[in-house]
Amino acid sequence: MKILDADKLPDLAAVLAAAGYRVVAPVRDGAQVRMAEWKPGLAIDAGPIPANSVKEFLFPRCEVIARYSLDGDSFAPQPAPVDAPKTAVLAVRPCDAAAMVALDKVFNWEYRDDAWNARREATTLVALVCAAADDECFCTSVGGAPDARLGADAVLRCADGASKFILEALGEKGQALLAAAAGVLADGDARPDPPASVPVRFDSKAVTDWCGENFESPLWRDLGLACLGCGSCAYACPVCHCFDIQDEGTRSEAVRLRNWDTCGLALFTQHSGGHNPRPDQAARWRQRVMHKFRYFVERFGGLACTGCGRCARLCPARLAISQVCREIDEARKAAAK
Ligand code: SF4
Ligand code: SF4
Repeated sequence: MKILDADKLPDLAAVLAAAGYRVVAPVRDGAQVRMAEWKPGLAIDAGPIPANSVKEFLFPRCEVIARYSLDGDSFAPQPAPVDAPKTAVLAVRPCDAAAMVALDKVFNWEYRDDAWNARREATTLVALVCAAADDECFCTSVGGAPDARLGADAVLRCADGASKFILEALGEKGQALLAAAAGVLADGDARPDPPASVPVRFDSKAVTDWCGENFESPLWRDLGLACLGCGSCAYACPVCHCFDIQDEGTRSEAVRLRNWDTCGLALFTQHSGGHNPRPDQAARWRQRVMHKFRYFVERFGGLACTGCGRCARLCPARLAISQVCREIDEARKAAAK
């Protein structure tokens, strides 16, 4: 069994950085903890659930996907190499690791996304078994668990009353990381601490079924009236993956950029002629729930929500998708009586 003292996470980060990894870890940033690129001197805090997800290190907020030079009326494509550094993500939450598996399906569906696949290949996810959860966590309602291993290459687990971590490799990438970290790991025994208790808050199958029958529900209007259309929920979500493509250039050179976007913003579906097939926030909230709980299930056989709760924690209107799902589930049960 490989053991690390609980206060030695910065040492683990340092030894991995010395071995050539870009290290991403939960870093304290004022009142928040954020997943960020670790540098010597930054405090790693694996306690709170980070405000952002790991998504941005595999699917950047903005990236160059093509580059070309212009000379009068002719243009010439230029190399636009993918930036895919060898990366170790420490203490990623199981809900985030599972989300990367959902995104694998999206980015290898009709089109194989080389940038996504290169970063996935270069990234080792070290999942942290959640020792505590908050009221917004609902992984157990969407097929996950605080100690789930889906998507993880290695697992960190608190042990001996949070005084130690047990580090376990789950595959080749995990084994390579453990070998690189050998200098700070000890062989020994430790008793794993129990994972957090996360109650099941709703039946996701009932939500999927309800969505198939309620495209015109008044629920969408009520949600639309409360929503400010800020997009925070989608940008914090580890599974949301919508993007927009923009060209920017000068007279002599240009780049094509892929930028995060979201179905929650009015311009997302706005046609150049002015028509918008999702004309109000009610239609956009419907799309958000339908996509995560119905369309994704139909296309990929799984949900597009891993229950991390970030959307609810960040929403300025205090809208919580878990609460929406709970109301749907309860309405279905009441109708069946
Ligand atoms: S929809 Fe909300 S709870 Fe579900 S994965 Fe996205 S941010 Fe997390
Ligand atoms: S974070 Fe809240 S207010 Fe902002 S778009 Fe999402 S649901 Fe609407």
